[in-house]
Amino acid sequence: MRVCCILQVRTLFSNDISKGKEAIPIVGVNDWDDDRLEIEDAGASAETLPLVRDKFGCPALQRYITEDERAPGIPEPEVPVLPEQFKDDPHKYIAQLNGGNLPYELASDGKTGILGSSMAMVYECGPWTGCQLGLSCPQAVTQRGCQWRLEVFKTRGRGWGVRSWDQIPYGAFVTAFHGLIRLALRDEDDEVDDTFVFNLDKRSDFSWDNQFLEEPDRQRDVKYVLDSTRVGSVGRYINHSCNPNCWVQPVLSRHGDRKMPSIAFFAMRNIPPMEELAYDYGSSYIQTRLDGQCHCGHAVCAFAGPSSS
Ligand SMILES: [Zn+2]
Ligand SMILES: [Zn+2]
Repeated sequence: MRVCCILQVRTLFSNDISKGKEAIPIVGVNDWDDDRLEIEDAGASAETLPLVRDKFGCPALQRYITEDERAPGIPEPEVPVLPEQFKDDPHKYIAQLNGGNLPYELASDGKTGILGSSMAMVYECGPWTGCQLGLSCPQAVTQRGCQWRLEVFKTRGRGWGVRSWDQIPYGAFVTAFHGLIRLALRDEDDEVDDTFVFNLDKRSDFSWDNQFLEEPDRQRDVKYVLDSTRVGSVGRYINHSCNPNCWVQPVLSRHGDRKMPSIAFFAMRNIPPMEELAYDYGSSYIQTRLDGQCHCGHAVCAFAGPSSS
């Protein structure tokens, strides 16, 4: 009820920025100024769309998508074949892929899948296993899409942000970062705006057998990136924080190509309604893209203090 009372004085400018593409509408709100988020729904392929910038110079989203797209020339990922001995129990194979255990457990509500901790890569049950449960399989969590009532809202001084009307429990899938899969660029290709680009790979802080690495694995061979500059989803509006409440989790579900995982966000703790969602962009992003200027505002901000300019 409290949330409804707040809404009465808020400026809601969109009932659903995804225009029906997400399972649950994502509202757009701005309490501070006249700025509006307008996603055109351009029909052209992402490769041919011009780069449009908003009045702050940020690349503007031109089409909302809920499935990653592939740039011309990017091969279709290979779908795994379920070994014969697992035909009667594909989840045994899913457990094996995940190092011995199934990745998700059901929360007490009986429907929310909970991922106990971050992993190098999560392998979900997908259509390729022949699982009879289909999308209702407890091991197909991210394939059902976002299950929370999210809103994109105007923050004070940090552009657009995202928050949820619902409490999101620890370990729950929050939403995904969708975009165009394209070849990773070389360092010298620095004229390209990479504000909304993710390297597609396992997590750098875990080895493939899910051992936590004190020193992040920097010798990675990233072949593809996920680019949300022109086409993307609500995940691109989630801000950075040095005290985040979400973690980034690569997930394989409908195919098995480890160079092209989906990018999902999971809750690092119980997130109360209306708390801004945030994840750690990594210090190199803050240093190179934001000149070391972090605006997260947290007392534990890694970039605040006397040494910061
Ligand atoms: Zn299944
Ligand atoms: Zn910070």
